[in-house]
Amino acid sequence: MADGRIIKALSGFYYVQTGDGVYQCKGRGVFRKKKITPLVGDFVTFDIDENDEGYITEVKPRTTELVRPPISNINQAVIVSSATMPDFSTTLLDRFLVLIEAKGIEPIIFITKIDAIEESTLTEIEKYKNEYEQIGYSVELFSAKQPSDLEKIKKYFSNHVSVIAGQSGVGKSSLLNALNPMLLLKTADISKSLGRGKHTTRHVELVEVADGLVADTPGFSALDFDDIELEDLSYCFPEMRERADQCKFRGCMHLKEPKCAVKHSVDLGEIASYRYEHYVSFAEEIQSRKPRY
Ligand code: GDP
Ligand code: ZN
Repeated sequence: MADGRIIKALSGFYYVQTGDGVYQCKGRGVFRKKKITPLVGDFVTFDIDENDEGYITEVKPRTTELVRPPISNINQAVIVSSATMPDFSTTLLDRFLVLIEAKGIEPIIFITKIDAIEESTLTEIEKYKNEYEQIGYSVELFSAKQPSDLEKIKKYFSNHVSVIAGQSGVGKSSLLNALNPMLLLKTADISKSLGRGKHTTRHVELVEVADGLVADTPGFSALDFDDIELEDLSYCFPEMRERADQCKFRGCMHLKEPKCAVKHSVDLGEIASYRYEHYVSFAEEIQSRKPRY
């Protein structure tokens, strides 16, 4: 019997990493009975039979679980935004932050391509960096083309299991490739020169990046709030979450209620008005959602 972590699932096999190597394992019937499907990221126990084949016998309880991509026990989501091409957007950043907070995963914010912007845009982006840091988030500005910048951001991956999130074209693959040249993930430049890939295999794998593990498939590609209830939305905004107990009404949604500590903080400029506006528009989106049942 041995313990390890599933780092890849392919064609019915699970690849389990242990202290002394990677074992190719199958799931035993026991899962079908319990309706548990092992996921990449799972901590498992497995047996090795006389033919040297591994059989997973137990899946340990998960701390987090994502559906797209199917992966468990992620403890960090790196949101990659770009300073340009596409332009930096707080609306999109806040949308990712909410989706990640709702899953109980720690977000960090990367803003890349700062080599490609003018001084005035950099000043504006630095202002946002300060504002998000005040909320409590880690924010890094960098260029994936600058080796000293890459050194600076490596520390965020050490000892973490991360998923990368972000709009297409912001530079996610370029970043991972720059941090681990062994990866050779397809970037926009490569797809252009090779034409459209005919058979792209859809599987998730945890790959080593700077002393940590990273899912090689971007996460949080579904950007709707279908899994979030209105009551939970303000908990996904740390600066609202920490003020909610000062609102006059318990269960205050910080929308139309009087004596709301959150709205008061917005008036005082302690909560950025664009953050609150995004909260209101996300709340409207959730309220207008068609009932699912
Ligand atoms: P993805 O869709 O998020 O994986 O984005 P890609 O990694 O494919 O990058 C999209 C484009 O942005 C490519 O043309 C990259 O060369 C370019 N890019 C990525 N990072 C940087 C950067 O730090 N600076 C500049 N100037 N371009 C970058
Ligand atoms: Zn309130």
